[in-house]
Amino acid sequence: MAGDGSDTAFPDEAEQTVTLNEYIDGIEAEELEADLVLGGDDGNECTYAGGYLKRQAVFSCITCVPDGVAGICTACCITCHEGHEVVELWTKRNFRCDCGNSKFGGHLCKLNPEKDPENPANSYNHNFKGFYCTCGRPYPDPEAKEQVEMIQCCICEDWFHEDHIGLDSIVKMPRDEEGEPLYEDFICHKCSPICYFLKLYPETIWASSKQSSASQAFTADSNGLEEDSADQADTEKNENGARVDHLSVEKPSVEDNCAEDIAAPEKSILGDNSGGNCKLGMDVDRTSADLEKAMPFFMSKGWRDILCRCGTCTKVYAQRGIAHLTDKDDSIEEYEKVAKQKREKKLEQQEGAEANFINSLNHVQKIEILSGISDIKNELHSFLQSFDPSKAVTSEDVRSIFENLAKKKQRLS
Ligand SMILES: [Zn+2]
Ligand SMILES: [Zn+2]
Ligand SMILES: [Zn+2]
Ligand SMILES: [Zn+2]
Ligand SMILES: [Zn+2]
Ligand SMILES: [Zn+2]
Repeated sequence: MAGDGSDTAFPDEAEQTVTLNEYIDGIEAEELEADLVLGGDDGNECTYAGGYLKRQAVFSCITCVPDGVAGICTACCITCHEGHEVVELWTKRNFRCDCGNSKFGGHLCKLNPEKDPENPANSYNHNFKGFYCTCGRPYPDPEAKEQVEMIQCCICEDWFHEDHIGLDSIVKMPRDEEGEPLYEDFICHKCSPICYFLKLYPETIWASSKQSSASQAFTADSNGLEEDSADQADTEKNENGARVDHLSVEKPSVEDNCAEDIAAPEKSILGDNSGGNCKLGMDVDRTSADLEKAMPFFMSKGWRDILCRCGTCTKVYAQRGIAHLTDKDDSIEEYEKVAKQKREKKLEQQEGAEANFINSLNHVQKIEILSGISDIKNELHSFLQSFDPSKAVTSEDVRSIFENLAKKKQRLS
């Protein structure tokens, strides 16, 4: 489907010109993105009955709950909050739909009105009020000249601007040659201190080899960083660049026997740790939290598989509220894999142009909410597929497309 890769823009109308191929690719990419966010969920049923789902798309209705202490599922977003001001939160873990519960002041859920008054295990950050990042701005930001994409921390699940996570000349976001981000998980500078033990792992867990030198001299960007970085002169580091001291951080001792309360760790793909052998060979809880050096972490593909599942490490994960890192189903990677499988199945069922158009109507509703794509665009999509895709779109084409579209609409109605 991709074009021939050559620059198809004409000098005199470079800004307006896009080939049909590029246009269709663009819409398909947005559709794929929407499907990935929804995790293949058709959005027909409220997910409340499924309890706290490991991961799902979550929305917040500012019209119903302006103080941002409630979240709703995809189906509720479409069915129960049509025309409301809804904030898209992408995916959240361990969330149960609140639609119509005590937080909604009498606005009942049309899909599942039988809900407990509250979901006590849900957690709500400022995203639910429509604010993101350390700068607390909305997205899209009406005051920004240009909307920059944000990245989500896999620990706190807040979203961040690249400029506000303490990147500098040493710590950079790993990218491929085309400038696309190259990492599986991002851990923000506020969460990285609780994950500082990751510095004890081999370099392969970092998305970029540059990351290993990240702790040399971290200079905090004053923009959005809360911690100050006075201590930059430290030179006592182990080979991975981590400063390891054997004084426990200000955490209480974990010698008492609470390991039984924690679910047995899964077998690691790198070996069986059930014998209590720690991969790190040391108590991760005794590594320095190194709060002075709060920096963003970018993790490589498959890094979660490498994490030690021994009793001690598992206990530390649980205490720090990051036990989800060793749960395969928690990763966006896994969530998107399942979504892609469902999408492929759905596309197979939608073969045939005419059937495709009718069947896409339900999908359009979701797209509208997620990406603001109008159904006109979707109609254009099927319509444009009959055009020579390598041709550039001219204003003349666009006018005739809209004329034909109007006729087609009349026929359908
Ligand atoms: Zn719901
Ligand atoms: Zn609402
Ligand atoms: Zn609802
Ligand atoms: Zn920001
Ligand atoms: Zn975070
Ligand atoms: Zn361990």
